[in-house]
Amino acid sequence: MQLVDIGANLTHSAFETDRSEVVARAKQAGVGRIIVTGTAVDESLAATRVADELGLWATAGVHPHHARDCGPSTIPALRDIARHPRVVAIGECGLDFNRNYSPHPDQEKWFVAQLELGMELGKPLFLHSRDAHPRFSEILHSHKPEKAVAHCFTGEQAELHAYLDLGLYIGITGWICDERRGRHLVKLVRDIPRDRLLLETDSPYLTPRDLRPQPRARRNEPALLPHILEAVARALGRPAEEVAADTTRNAVALFGLDESRASAPAQRPLAA
Ligand SMILES: [Zn+2]
Repeated sequence: MQLVDIGANLTHSAFETDRSEVVARAKQAGVGRIIVTGTAVDESLAATRVADELGLWATAGVHPHHARDCGPSTIPALRDIARHPRVVAIGECGLDFNRNYSPHPDQEKWFVAQLELGMELGKPLFLHSRDAHPRFSEILHSHKPEKAVAHCFTGEQAELHAYLDLGLYIGITGWICDERRGRHLVKLVRDIPRDRLLLETDSPYLTPRDLRPQPRARRNEPALLPHILEAVARALGRPAEEVAADTTRNAVALFGLDESRASAPAQRPLAA
């Protein structure tokens, strides 16, 4: 079994002292490929360094929480980072009307700017949406990326179907293991076509609540992805091996993850 964790925040300080052990543990657990989420310009650059160092992949983008910090240099900086051969997507970007750390107009402006960047570069989009339906879908209708994933999907049926109609892939996290907040997902994942489903930990966040024992400091990590796979497979009533094969195939279809291209020396622009 070979899984892809499409979203792990491995630049987070929680991984500062043992990042390479975390990745080794993931590989041992069958999580052979990991995409490190970029959440701000400096974090995206850090994600490419981690990806280089540990043979992983990365995204380049600004999370809606940080939209208020964006300015004229943001998109040029992301464009530059995205030239790195291990950067496989633009994002995470989107809207977060749950915490509202940035004003809505700022969130929308920089969401659109990143959608346009992704389309300009021909890269898939790694999308974040929290309590932002239907505005999120409206924006996607007018700036429709060719390939994108709604990462960490936690919404309800109408939202899911709006995203599927937009052609999005759907990323499922350990939220589905949460007996308080994730119960609806157990039924809802059956609505996701086999060729649109992706798995992710969103580590160090969203540690599966039903995991026993809970990890130290309740830190989630990519090695726990098989636990999420089992929960999804159970919900679908399908063998875990099949779901693993589907989701890995989908991750490759969306992101490429071509090791031979990533190590081509001619494509290394970020020497400085
Ligand atoms: Zn997110």
